[in-house]
Amino acid sequence: MSNQSRVFMTYNGTPSSVQTLAHELGHAYHQRAMGDMPYFSTRYSMSVAETASTLAEQLVADAAVQEAASEEERIALLDTKINRSAAFFMNIHARFLFEKRFYERRKTEWLSAGALKELMVEAQKEAYHDQLSEYDPYFWASKMHFFITRVPFYNFPYTFGYLFSLGILEHAKSAGSEFESAYIDLLKDTASMSVEDLSRKHLSKDLTDKQFWLDAAQPIVEDIEQFLKLTEA
Ligand SMILES: [Zn+2]
Repeated sequence: MSNQSRVFMTYNGTPSSVQTLAHELGHAYHQRAMGDMPYFSTRYSMSVAETASTLAEQLVADAAVQEAASEEERIALLDTKINRSAAFFMNIHARFLFEKRFYERRKTEWLSAGALKELMVEAQKEAYHDQLSEYDPYFWASKMHFFITRVPFYNFPYTFGYLFSLGILEHAKSAGSEFESAYIDLLKDTASMSVEDLSRKHLSKDLTDKQFWLDAAQPIVEDIEQFLKLTEA
C-alpha cells in the first residue's frame, strides 16, 4: 500500500472550491492519522466520518472571515458560513424528520407520491419553523441520499459531525498546545470507540451533557450577531 491520501476535486478558485478543498483535506488528514493502523481498525462509522472534514472546513471559514480584506468581503463570507449552519440545523433536520416519519408509517402502509409530498412539506415546515415562503414537496425525489437504502438516515452524520467538530474546536481554544496530539489520538480511535467514549477519553467532555452542544453552537450565534451588526447600519 502506498499509504498516501489523495484528494480528487474540480478546483476552480472560488471560495466554495476552497471550502471543498478544506473539507477533503480534512478527510485526508483523518486517513493520514490512521495511516499506520491495521485496515480493520480504520473502518470508522458514519457518525465520525464527517468530523475531521467539517472541522477543517470550519477552520478555513473562520480564518477567511478573520482575514477578510474588506467589510463587503466579510459580510459575504459570513453569509456563506451562516447558510451552512442553516443547512445543518434546518435542511438536514427536515431530512431527518422526513425519514423518521417515513419509516414509522412504512411499518404499516405503503406511501404514495402524494403522501411523501405531504410528509416532506410537513418536515420542512417544522425544521424551518414555518419561516419559508415556499417549500419543496419533491425533495424526497431529487435527493439521492434517500435512495441509498443500505445507509438509512444518511443525513444525521452531517449535522452530528458538524456540531461535534464545532465542539472539538471550542475545546481546542482552551486546550492550547496539547490539542494537536489529543486530536490525532481521537481520530485514531474513531473506529474502535463510541463517540461518547472518544470525547470522554480525548477531550474530557461528556457528550450527554447539554452544555457541550450549547458551547458547540455558540460560534454560530456569534456569526449571526456579527453579520447583523455589519448589515444593520
Ligand atoms: Zn465529507
